[in-house]
Amino acid sequence: MKFGGTSVGDATCIRRSAQIVADAARKHPVAAVVSAMSGVTNRLIDAAHYAKRGDRGAGKSLTGSLRKQHFDALATLIQGEPKQAPVQSRIEEILSEATRLYEGTALLQELTPRTLDAISSLGERLCAPIFAATLNELGVQGSAIEATDVIVTDSFHGGAEPLTSETRQKSQMKLGPLLKEGIVPVVTGFIGATADGALTTLGRGGSDYSATILGAALDAEEIIIWTDVEGVLTADPRLVSDARTIPEISYREAAELAYFGAKVLHPKTLRPVLPAGIPVWIRNSFAPEKLGTKITPKGRSIGGGVKALTAIRDVALISVGGPGIVGVTDVVGRTFSTTAELRAEVLLISQSSSQNDICFIVAKAHAPTTLEALRKEFAQDLAHEVVEHITMDPEIAIVAVVGENMRGTPGVAGRTFHCLGQEGVNIIAIAQGSSETNISFVVSDKAVKQALLAAHREFGLGVDGS
Ligand code: ADP
Ligand code: ASP
Ligand code: MG
Repeated sequence: MKFGGTSVGDATCIRRSAQIVADAARKHPVAAVVSAMSGVTNRLIDAAHYAKRGDRGAGKSLTGSLRKQHFDALATLIQGEPKQAPVQSRIEEILSEATRLYEGTALLQELTPRTLDAISSLGERLCAPIFAATLNELGVQGSAIEATDVIVTDSFHGGAEPLTSETRQKSQMKLGPLLKEGIVPVVTGFIGATADGALTTLGRGGSDYSATILGAALDAEEIIIWTDVEGVLTADPRLVSDARTIPEISYREAAELAYFGAKVLHPKTLRPVLPAGIPVWIRNSFAPEKLGTKITPKGRSIGGGVKALTAIRDVALISVGGPGIVGVTDVVGRTFSTTAELRAEVLLISQSSSQNDICFIVAKAHAPTTLEALRKEFAQDLAHEVVEHITMDPEIAIVAVVGENMRGTPGVAGRTFHCLGQEGVNIIAIAQGSSETNISFVVSDKAVKQALLAAHREFGLGVDGS
C-alpha cells in the first residue's frame, strides 16, 4: 500500500492512512510505502536552489519549520514521551543531515544532482518513522525502512532506474522476515540507492513507482495506491469538474494516461508489474469505503472508443527544420540521439511529409538544454543553412485522448477534431501513429481547459454521460 503526500499531509491524514494499513495487516501481510508530507519535497528543493546561490538562511529556516511540523504531527499521533522520544531523535538525526547538506551547498555554491537527491529524499525519511510509530499506536507493529536498503538503482540521479534482480534479492532479504512475523515495513517512497550505496531518487512523483517496484519484488498479490481522488478519472478533476471514476482500466490505457500527464500515476508505475500481471488499485485514502479503479493487464472492454482524456502542460515544442533538410537522411537520427544522450524524454513527435520540419515535445525543464545541445550538434548545418532553424515554443500543451482499440473505432479522430474546431481551438500538431490507445495533439497552453471540456462532452465521459 502506498500513501501519497496528501494522504500523509498532517496528523489526521496519517492516522487515517495508518488505520487503513492496520485493518488490512490484521488480514494479510502488508508493506507500506510512504511519500513525504504534502508540499515538503517542493520546499526542500526550493531551499536547495537558494543555498546554491549562497543563501545560508533558507536551509536553516526550512529545517526549523520541518522540525516543528513533524514534531507537532508526532505529538498529536503518539501519546507519551517514552514512545515519542525514539522517533524524535530519529527526526533530529535526519534534520542534522539536512543542515549539513544545506550548509555544504551554500558554502560551495554548488548543487550536484547527487546532493539534490540527498536533499529531496529528506521528506520521505522524516515521514516513515512517524507512520511506523502510528501503526504501533494502533496495535500493529510497524518498522520504518529506508528504501536505500531495499531498492537498488543505476546512478542516474534525479530519475534513477531500478535494477530488478538486485532489488528483488535485497527486498526479500530485508522485508521478507518482517512480513512473516506480521510486522509492517514502512518504506520511504521515491528513493533508492546504487549498488555502492549512493542515494538516488526515482524522479518527481516517484513513490508510485517505488510501490510497484517493491510489490513486484515481493510477489505481492495486489498493490494499492492510496491518493486523494477516487481512482483514475475520465479527466483531471481540477480541470473538468464532472470527471468520473473509471472502475477498471488496462495497464496499457493507464500507462498512456500517466505518460500523457495524469498526475495520479507516475509514468513508470506500471512497468514493474507487467511480467507478473499484478493488479494495481488506485483508491482514495479520504474515502476508503469507495472501490476506486482497478488496473489490470486487460482492463474491462467497453467495446472500443474513448475512456479518458489527459493533458501535459509544462512542456515545450522544439522544431528542427528548413527546406535544406529534404533528403538529409541523418537529421532525424542525430536529433533523437541528442535527446537520448540528455535523457530528455520525447513525449510526441510529428514530421511533415516533405521532411521540411521535425517537431517534437520535451518537458519544459529539459527544453533549454535540448535546444543548446541540438544547436551544437547541427552547428555546421546551421552555418551552411542546411538546417535553417532550431526553435522552441514553451507556450503549448499536449492533450491526449485515450482508450482501447481506438484505431479500430472509426470516427474518433474526426469527432475529436470536429468538436475542437467548433470550439475554435487551434491544433498545432497531431500524433496518432502506431499506438492504438491514443490520439494526441498539441494546442496552445491557454486552450487546454477548453479542449478537455469539449472532448469530454463530445465523448459523453461526464457523470451524467453529457
Ligand atoms: P499523491 O500525492 O497521492 O501521489 P498526486 O497529487 O501525485 O497524489 O496525484 C493525484 C492527483 O492527480 C489528483 O488530485 C488529481 O488532481 C490529479 N489527476 C490528474 N489527472 C487525473 C486523472 N485522470 N484521474 C485522477 N486524478 C488525476
Ligand atoms: N515526495 C516526492 C515528490 O514530491 C515523491 C512522491 O510524492 O511521489 O515528488
Ligand atoms: Mg503522486
